[in-house]
Amino acid sequence: MKYNNEIHKRRTFAIISHPDAGKTTLTEKFLLFGGAIQTAGAVKSNKIKKHATSDFMEIERQRGISVATSVMSFEYKNILINLLDTPGHKDFAEDTYRTLTAVDSVILVVDSVNGVEDQTRRLMEVCRMRDTPVIVFINKMDRDGKNRFDLLEEIENELKISLHPMTWPINSGKDFKGVYNLHDKNLLLFTANTKAADDDVVQISDLSLPLLDEKVGDKDASILREDAELIEGVYGELPVNDYLSGKVAPVFFGSAINNFGVKEMLDTFIRIAPVPRPRATSVRDVPPTEDKFSGFIFKIHANLDPKHRDRIAFLRVCSGKFERNKYFHHVRLDKDVRFSNPYTFMARDKDVIEEAYAGDVVGLFDTGNFKIGDTLTEGENFFFTGIPSFSPEIFKEVINKDPMKTKQLEKGLLQLTDEGVAQLFTQFGGNKKIIGCVGDLQFEVIQYRLLQEYGASCEFRALPYFKACWITAADPKKLDEFTRFKSNNIATDKDGHLVYLAQSEWFLNTERTNNPDIEFHFTSEIH
Ligand code: GDP
Repeated sequence: MKYNNEIHKRRTFAIISHPDAGKTTLTEKFLLFGGAIQTAGAVKSNKIKKHATSDFMEIERQRGISVATSVMSFEYKNILINLLDTPGHKDFAEDTYRTLTAVDSVILVVDSVNGVEDQTRRLMEVCRMRDTPVIVFINKMDRDGKNRFDLLEEIENELKISLHPMTWPINSGKDFKGVYNLHDKNLLLFTANTKAADDDVVQISDLSLPLLDEKVGDKDASILREDAELIEGVYGELPVNDYLSGKVAPVFFGSAINNFGVKEMLDTFIRIAPVPRPRATSVRDVPPTEDKFSGFIFKIHANLDPKHRDRIAFLRVCSGKFERNKYFHHVRLDKDVRFSNPYTFMARDKDVIEEAYAGDVVGLFDTGNFKIGDTLTEGENFFFTGIPSFSPEIFKEVINKDPMKTKQLEKGLLQLTDEGVAQLFTQFGGNKKIIGCVGDLQFEVIQYRLLQEYGASCEFRALPYFKACWITAADPKKLDEFTRFKSNNIATDKDGHLVYLAQSEWFLNTERTNNPDIEFHFTSEIH
């Protein structure tokens, strides 16, 4: 356990939200507290405003190879925080889902006006799959939001998680007066557009004191007293272990844009958020305290600038010490590799690093050696499990427009799908190549990149499927029968696993009812 101190210093997490709930704004406030940036406005949203390829390309070009926003590391009160960025656009949701495999906890931002939205629901599902600890930040309290109790109920019901209020708001919108910190028993008075300073914190050890009426007025004081009594009666102290096992989510109220209620959350975060956790592998669980290095690739980012074609593979360190220029074992390729320029990412710049520890994310220059899910070790042969592929929802057949470039097209399709941009399927018993994505934008990106990077031109023909499910059966004969009977709807993924392509929900449900021996899976682990 040579690296105990390093491990206990680290917290690796992601902020997730439905677009527009305030993820970028909150990220920026965190970086301000961490001293990683000095002024508001320094963090650019990686959001794609319009549904257009040109927009996406422009953003990618600006980000270039530095990908500075992919991981932001900063220190706060002697804790080293690695904040992993997730794309805002829903068409890139798969990238977000996979990033969640590389974090130890998340902060979920919910807009107090809109409540639980589509992406919130989906992201939480992914967190639940891995029992990821979640802290909820209810944002935009300066706007006329939903009733605070209704909001909690909605979040609990829709996201299927128990909540535990840590702060409690006094009104919302123009009457928003602040939040009462149930844990520290102090009142934080709302001041718009200023950095909430310590002067705004009023210590109220007992809510019955007249000081409360003085600060917020009689009416709101008595409402707060009632609310607080109710909450304390129901919830009591936060059961930290239930938070760590993903059963209970602490909740904070605030306004990211006004930097209000953010510090309270950050202080609690560094107190309770998990240190790098053990990770499951094909052989055993690997604790972060193991002396030997191990890690996996969870994201590959291509550079769209034609002058610099290299890609960056993002490695999450899971145990031991990663070192520059040291040979590590690439398990899938069964060869030893070393990296002379591994990068770490501070908020704006990238720096070559000499070493990294469990919880850290390192950017590795890659010329095509890596696939998502690849494992690096110090010699042992195991691979990390639990890095999922999600069932895509839009399907198109690839039509080769230039038979002279067939090889390039195939190579391009393989490499781009290795990056996790989309999934590649092959028609069962045939040759048709089918691309499955979660968003339409990815088809445009693939088409553009195939032409730019591989010189291959293709078109897509829409296919009438609505979901791909991986199929398995305990009895191979049953699987074989089903596959032959339904061959028009069967394809194989890149690893040769069988996939059933359903035309509609009705077809899918019918097949599931009629074929009880066949199991339909909506995610597939890469291993
Ligand atoms: P993201 O898509 O989740 O990254 O959301 P952004 O951080 O880009 O915020 C979306 C919009 O909400 C922006 O116009 C922000 O200025 C605004 N916003 C963020 N936080 C607050 C808040 O606390 N109150 C109000 N009224 N607006 C906010």
